Amino acid sequence: MPQANAALLETEEQRDLRAAVAALGKRYGREYFTGVVAEGKHTDELWAEAASLGYLGVNLPEEYGGGGGGMSELAIVLEELGAAGCPLLMMVVSPAICGTVIARFGTEEQKGEWLPGLADGSRKMAFGITEPDAGSNSHRITTTARRDPASSVAESGEGDWLLSGRKVFISGVDIADATLIVGRTEDERTGRLKPCLFIVPRDAAGFTRSPIDMELAAPEKQFELVLDDVRLPADALVGGGDGEDAGLLQLFAGLNPERIMTAAFAIGMGRHAVDRALDYARTRTVWKEPIGSHQAIAHPLAQAHIELELARLMMAKAAALYDAGDDMGAGEAANMAKYAAGEACAKAVDQAVHTLGGNGLTREYGIASLITASRVARIAPVSREMVLNFVSHQTLGLPKSY
Ligand SMILES: Cc1cc2nc3c(=O)[nH]c(=O)nc-3n(C[C@H](O)[C@H](O)[C@H](O)COP(=O)(O)OP(=O)(O)OC[C@H]3O[C@@H](n4cnc5c(N)ncnc54)[C@H](O)[C@@H]3O)c2cc1C
Repeated sequence: MPQANAALLETEEQRDLRAAVAALGKRYGREYFTGVVAEGKHTDELWAEAASLGYLGVNLPEEYGGGGGGMSELAIVLEELGAAGCPLLMMVVSPAICGTVIARFGTEEQKGEWLPGLADGSRKMAFGITEPDAGSNSHRITTTARRDPASSVAESGEGDWLLSGRKVFISGVDIADATLIVGRTEDERTGRLKPCLFIVPRDAAGFTRSPIDMELAAPEKQFELVLDDVRLPADALVGGGDGEDAGLLQLFAGLNPERIMTAAFAIGMGRHAVDRALDYARTRTVWKEPIGSHQAIAHPLAQAHIELELARLMMAKAAALYDAGDDMGAGEAANMAKYAAGEACAKAVDQAVHTLGGNGLTREYGIASLITASRVARIAPVSREMVLNFVSHQTLGLPKSY
């Protein structure tokens, strides 16, 4: 695929980063990724090498071993790895959501404990908000934490937490050292439940996971989680004592990076699909000229390229607003970028598979599995309909039906 001319939009450092990550991705390539999936393994080698080069922690603060950059840089890393056929889904959750939330809201102890490992890739953290009865409607989550009155009171005067509930579709819990769980606690004054984020270690007693059988060819698995009175120390709450009132803010801080990174994931995958289709269309000849000369093949690919470029522009805007500290402005742009990227990716993959004719469905060419993968960005972390709802209500001021 023609390299997007990003000279006007990206700094020299960002362009260098893009080129370096693209070169790394090319060394691994799609065959590495599909091989890992076929063997039921994980992309450990690529994860470790990308981490050692500083790419996975590029957004995290320098004082904790990160690169001191922002979401703009992290999105470049994910997009380029995806364009090379090696999308690292855990980047969306570990450095982007969890790293951001801890860097912005964690206590000094939490930052010291987690950020260096998240930055150098030696530790990973999953993120769990979705529940069986609260998918698109996160106001309905019922995972609840209460203080254990019987627990020994820590020095801070705060006892242990007991966290109970169920989560579903949570990615990478088996390979993550901990999962950042969105739960709720009761406000002592009003009795109302308010969101709170807890760091739950993978092997905590009462924390069980079962893999969900997904039709998705990816190294990261999705899990259903049960939290049965999981005992957590007071400092498992992000932000410590202050975290009880800052949960909503923390959540919003994590959701914008999640949407921006999902856009990067989708744009990378869409670019990879178009690339594969172009390679094929340039050479496959069944009449006088290669099939790419037929406008019925060329125009939809041109359209896919344009739509991916437009989505990328919106992603860059969202990342720039986020990195500038404008959480509100970034919210709208990040939703729009996620929407545009999800749609562009699904369309690009569909056209790529079609371009390859029968070979689009062979295992040898291996692009049919992208059809399922490309749907992820339409559904998660927020479905296209919920983004349309957000824009209808927040941007256009239309009334709500639900
Ligand atoms: C591969 C994968 C990985 C995931 N990883 C994670 C993860 O790591 N952590 C995590 O917390 N979650 C994760 N999720 C969950 C994901 O965020 C949810 O699937 C998503 O939020 C949608 O929720 P749901 O599946 O319950 O769909 P539902 O909420 O049941 O929605 C079903 C359909 O109804 C539509 N709909 C619902 N409400 C409305 C409305 N008001 N107006 C119009 N349409 C509506 C939706 O758009 C959708 O099309 C993952 C999902 C997938 C597929």
